[in-house]
Amino acid sequence: MSFFGGKRENSVATPKPGLLDRMKQAVTRTRESLSSKIDGLVALTRTVDEQTLESLESVLLTSDLGVQTTTDILAALRDRARHQAIRDGAELRSLLKQQLIAILSAPQAPNTIQTLAAPQVPPQALEAPKAQLASPQVTFLVGVNGTGKTTSAGKLAAWYRAQNRTVLLCAADTFRAAAIEQLEVWAARSGVEMIKTRHGGDPAAVLYDAASAAKARGIQELIVDTAGRLHTKSGLMDELDKMRRTAAKLIPGAPHQVLLVMDATTGQNGLQQARLFTQAAGVTGILLTKLDGTAKGGIAVAIARELALPVRFVGVGEQMQDLLEFSPEAFVDSLLG
Ligand code: GDP
Repeated sequence: MSFFGGKRENSVATPKPGLLDRMKQAVTRTRESLSSKIDGLVALTRTVDEQTLESLESVLLTSDLGVQTTTDILAALRDRARHQAIRDGAELRSLLKQQLIAILSAPQAPNTIQTLAAPQVPPQALEAPKAQLASPQVTFLVGVNGTGKTTSAGKLAAWYRAQNRTVLLCAADTFRAAAIEQLEVWAARSGVEMIKTRHGGDPAAVLYDAASAAKARGIQELIVDTAGRLHTKSGLMDELDKMRRTAAKLIPGAPHQVLLVMDATTGQNGLQQARLFTQAAGVTGILLTKLDGTAKGGIAVAIARELALPVRFVGVGEQMQDLLEFSPEAFVDSLLG
């Protein structure tokens, strides 16, 4: 596979100002590890030879890009070097950046948020009641316990509010004792309403209530926190299925997004878990948390390449505003300058 030559057709929008700085700060540890090693290896050589490429290979592996992804990148670089010598470190860095952006952009499907945000509404429909204009976009957050689902549901609510979208939270993690109270705090902080049931209640039932309320109130975004589960727990996976059916019954096409919440600090183990999870849960994208706490941020590239799923958002801290919409350009620029 070669990523060089030819312009990318669907070039991604330039990242918003501010995003790059925040992304840079979040990936500081990964950048320090990756960029300084690359600087070190290119400083030693004038021209980029096979030995430089071999050193680059081990640098990429230590940043958690994974064997498969690293092998692809190296094959493309060697191919390029065979046809046209890679002049110097600066050129190597630039070729590497091109490749990382291409890999990260490959699964970035058109964002449903944009299509929903600018609906083609006939003029007469504008006078219709709010609820008839568009049904809510439903987002499920799924994943294993402790990855940051509840925190991310709260942050995502605030993120959508900042886009001027109306939001309703649904506390469907009725399994973990503190999850409902925790989400309630986030709902209050971001100024959105929340639908809940008692601890141990039926998650599909609370989702039914939340979906009905979201429709009746003309809400644009319904965000559903779900219980932590492993793909191997068939009872819990069946429960997720039931939730999907419940959502679809009330709202056409729901759930529109199923975001698998992954903890960046778990590296390649998390990737293996995610691979099995995505097959069972109809995952449409990744929300990668705790990017601020790891030197292994390269996992984002492995996710895009090996799971063929877009990274949609990254968690960069524990505060409400610590959620960034993912941009391949901003991420790669932050890593490699
Ligand atoms: P859940 O079990 O998946 O719902 O996980 P929680 O939402 O309770 O989060 C588990 C822990 O991870 C909490 O201490 C969160 O504050 C923390 N956390 C979540 N997202 C991030 C993040 O992006 N960065 C950091 N540093 N911590 C996070």
